[in-house]
Amino acid sequence: MKIAILSRNRSLYSTRRLVEEGINRGHEVHVIDCLHCYMNITSASPKIHYHEEVLDDFDVVIPRIGASVTFYGTAVLRQFEMMGVFPLNESVAISRARDKLRSLQLLARKGVGMPVTGFANKPDNVPELIRMVGGSPVVIKLLQGTQGIGVVLAETRKAAESVIEAFMGLKADILVQEFVKEAGGADIRCFVIGDKVIAAMKRQAPEGEFRSNLHRGGSASLVRITPEERRTAVTAAKAMGLNVAGVDLLRSARGPLVMEVNSSPGLEGIENATGKNIAGMIINWTEKNQKPWKTKTKGQ
Ligand code: ADP
Ligand code: GLU
Repeated sequence: MKIAILSRNRSLYSTRRLVEEGINRGHEVHVIDCLHCYMNITSASPKIHYHEEVLDDFDVVIPRIGASVTFYGTAVLRQFEMMGVFPLNESVAISRARDKLRSLQLLARKGVGMPVTGFANKPDNVPELIRMVGGSPVVIKLLQGTQGIGVVLAETRKAAESVIEAFMGLKADILVQEFVKEAGGADIRCFVIGDKVIAAMKRQAPEGEFRSNLHRGGSASLVRITPEERRTAVTAAKAMGLNVAGVDLLRSARGPLVMEVNSSPGLEGIENATGKNIAGMIINWTEKNQKPWKTKTKGQ
């Protein structure tokens, strides 16, 4: 196969591993920075130009599009789709997952468990918004946040009101969520490929912290997940339309609750925690499933 990896930086662990495993299996692999792509949009023959070349003959495109370049990155990916190149994850699926409200609404429609979540653009009645999600303590999240930044635990109603009003004053988009205390500062990352969870790890927050992000000092370890957790993760990835996804679950008294579905899940933490060759599994799955013009959405 001729594989394009859409990534801004070839020295990132995940990009490096995908290149390595692609080459190991005899494929031709190119790393392409989407911000250096320019395109002509015509109905007859869409093309992508990159530096001095025209990108053609690719069989597969593996998007590793960072949150900050979602808009342009998905446009480049859509252009590949319009040329019939098989995307590991489709542009539409990535756009769904990147939008926290859209993704939670899609999950709710499929009956997937999630923390009770409220959102409002300009709540005239902040106490009512807090009451709606079950009252304090609540978690307040900036919609644009990643890696746990902009995720705040407000222990009391007063604290919650102040934080919500402060964020509103800054014109930030937020959601307000039930605090799942029994998760104990841990979450479960399920790595989904196709219709299987092929690896899972538990991330535990350090003492005195409720956010388990590795960037916030969390530690990762191997974990056995239950059949219900497995089913939930696969259903969540399917609801987004993602072939490869990192599904983050909280273990609650009422079963697994999905917090987030990541469309470019990092490989470093999970390969280290599990000792599995996940990059190799991604390439294997792609070999078996890729076909020209085989997208569900055609970028629509
Ligand atoms: P980000 O996308 O920035 O990582 P998350 O929504 O994943 O933000 O939240 C960061 C961490 O905070 C999670 O990994 C989890 O450990 C914790 N957390 C988030 N939401 C809740 C919640 N509703 N209840 C309990 N813990 C939560
Ligand atoms: N850093 C990865 C990305 O940009 C996501 C990290 C994670 O999976 O939590 O896609």
